[in-house]
Amino acid sequence: MSNLRQFATATLTLKSGTSIVLDTEVLTLLQSYVQTGSRPEAGGILLGYRRGVHLDVVAATVPAPQDVQSHWAFVRKDASHQQVAARWWEQSGGRVDYLGEWHTHPQTQPTPSSVDMREWGLLERRNPRPLLFLIVGTQAWFAQYQGEHCKFLPTLPPR
Ligand SMILES: [Zn+2]
Repeated sequence: MSNLRQFATATLTLKSGTSIVLDTEVLTLLQSYVQTGSRPEAGGILLGYRRGVHLDVVAATVPAPQDVQSHWAFVRKDASHQQVAARWWEQSGGRVDYLGEWHTHPQTQPTPSSVDMREWGLLERRNPRPLLFLIVGTQAWFAQYQGEHCKFLPTLPPR
């Protein structure tokens, strides 16, 4: 697994100056789960590098058979998410870390639900390091990290 940045990226810069880089592969992957029509919510975990407070998201897991998916909910239950995270951790010599969670919403301008806020709070208390939470809407995406949040339009490379 190489550390070379071969792909275009989307960079979010929060008010504090913290930057979050989303690799194009991750953007493209998450974009493929956008909730159009009657598609259910999708989600998974975000993996990548921590550079001080800055994040570089290089991989994400996707829904698997044991996850619970409905139009208004995604519950991550499949063991594959942890297995993928463990594999990245091992293959990168412990540098590719669990960075947080993503899921979709059937909204153009997604905002976290009260369930999301509660879950994120629990995850943050259980993890010693700050976590990134992404919601993939049908147009904009929502990001929350270290008490800051923003909405953005993901920029994908031309096909
Ligand atoms: Zn949600």
